[in-house]
Amino acid sequence: MLIPEEIKIGGFLIGIELVEHLVNERGNLGEYHPRTQTIKLDKDNTKQQNQETLIHEILEAVTSIYDIEMQHKDLSNMAVVLHQILLDNEGLSK
Ligand SMILES: [Zn+2]
Repeated sequence: MLIPEEIKIGGFLIGIELVEHLVNERGNLGEYHPRTQTIKLDKDNTKQQNQETLIHEILEAVTSIYDIEMQHKDLSNMAVVLHQILLDNEGLSK
């Protein structure tokens, strides 16, 4: 699973940036910023951490853009499950 430079969600183009010190300074592996339409991932995360975190932040963007109410615990669990399904079924999107 590749980390793209941008992703389209609900008509919005969301930029994906690898940034420094997100974990150290803010305690987050990643963040979704609706005002600037960006997802930030800590560049020091492992590849697997960034893949799972990207899916997590995509779900954050989806629930924000479509005004879907979801407990953060449920969103986090959903991201872990989707990450596993996408990695274990490489041909899914082809
Ligand atoms: Zn979150």
